Amino acid sequence: MTASFTATIDGKSVDTHDHLEVINPATEEVIGHAPDCGEEELDAAVAAAQGALPGWRATPLAERQALVRALGDAIAAHHDELMRLVTAEQGKPFADATADVMGGAAWCGIYGSMELPVAVVEDSPERRVEVRRAPIGVVGAIAPWNFPVMLAMLKAAPAMVAGNTVVLKPSPFTPAATLRIGELAREILPPGVLNVISGGDRLGPLMTSHPGIDKISFTGSTATGRRVMESASASLKRLTLELGGNDAAIVLPDVDVDVVAPQLFAAAFGNTGQICLAVKRLYVHADIYDRFAATMANLAKSAKVGDGSEQGTQFGPMQNKPQYLRVKALIEDSKSSGHAFLAGGETTDGPGYFLPLTIVDNPPETSRVVQEEQFGPLLPLLKWTDVDDVVARANQTEYGLGAQVWGADAEWATEIGARLEAGNVFINQPQTILPNAPFGGHKSSGIGSESSLEGLLSYTNPQTVVISKAPVGATAA
Ligand code: NAD
Repeated sequence: MTASFTATIDGKSVDTHDHLEVINPATEEVIGHAPDCGEEELDAAVAAAQGALPGWRATPLAERQALVRALGDAIAAHHDELMRLVTAEQGKPFADATADVMGGAAWCGIYGSMELPVAVVEDSPERRVEVRRAPIGVVGAIAPWNFPVMLAMLKAAPAMVAGNTVVLKPSPFTPAATLRIGELAREILPPGVLNVISGGDRLGPLMTSHPGIDKISFTGSTATGRRVMESASASLKRLTLELGGNDAAIVLPDVDVDVVAPQLFAAAFGNTGQICLAVKRLYVHADIYDRFAATMANLAKSAKVGDGSEQGTQFGPMQNKPQYLRVKALIEDSKSSGHAFLAGGETTDGPGYFLPLTIVDNPPETSRVVQEEQFGPLLPLLKWTDVDDVVARANQTEYGLGAQVWGADAEWATEIGARLEAGNVFINQPQTILPNAPFGGHKSSGIGSESSLEGLLSYTNPQTVVISKAPVGATAA
């Protein structure tokens, strides 16, 4: 049996003539159908968002916050249903899908409790100068397929709290849970405040060039991010771009391998490697390399890769066929280049987009598996001996999303961390996104930040209000 989902435009259910197939990546079976929205539905969604804007931006902040929190509560109340949808469409195990759904609910709660600051920068006898925060207008939010709920709400929640209205587009590979959240929102938010539309490859470019959208918040690959920026330039849209990464982790020779290797294993292979901040190049000091490699190999060989809905599964499939084929091609490239494998490397052809957890043993720095963002269960383990050299290798990439340094001497690790060109540096801990700190990429990993107050402010324009205290007189009544 397959499920049907509808778009939400102006608080109403909207269906289309054509549909996207929602595919379970563990079985390759069609599990549902989602609207294939095009120009007509996008125009309607933007018109609804524009129509709702004056009322929503005039709604007191406390009321907007309460409604966004209520949406979070509704997501949390439906967590079991949404979690099953995420596992079915995305592939990840139930526990990870629950974390994705509850992460989305949490962002509604976090932003639903955040204040928009008014800064008084001058209060002199002559004048008072305030910097207020005005909403930007209609926000187009474009989400990827790796954490469909959490990354969508990380955009929609702050955008709405700041007084904007939203047109949210999930990835065509994972539209179901997001469309379901749109259905829940119909009962909570005023019509037109949150519109959710799914569609194929043409819909994203239509959004980024739509004259009625004032800001695009995009999470996805760097290649697509470049196209988004180009397209958005025509109407000078505000932009937040959260893009790809090729995060390096550097392990110093003084660590306890038994403590650190399992944490880095999880940091690299969590969500089957499909995490923007996952460790994608792991540099281990030569003194401990062999022991570290053996521990990582054992962990990879004993991990259970399978259908996320089956008990005991730790790692699901690749989410979609193009990504499966891309990572498979990288594994084949390593094989044909003669690299040695510490684990994995054997690929099979379905059913399901499954790949084994694969670790490549010290491949050359110039190899594709080191240079490219793999975004899958494939990790190069690399040897180093000289600190300056390993810092240079870690920085030698167009990306700058995250980086990690692990060492018993935390001061030394922190010093090395400060030399890494990345927006998020983690010392002796795996990657995380914190609600009180900005999350964003340097270099080609993005523009702007999400999370924290900085994320909220990215959905506003500063508005300087200068109030003169000089008398202007008044007409006699
Ligand atoms: P993608 O770039 O293929 O697609 C992302 C979204 O953009 C989808 O909704 C897609 O439909 C849409 N899209 C595609 N072409 C478009 C266009 N020309 N104009 C506008 N929209 C378009 O990315 P993906 O494969 O879904 O996600 C994987 C990538 O996302 C990886 O590179 C990963 O590192 C990155 N990512 C980054 C972050 C971050 O916060 N920095 C988080 C998660 C994923």
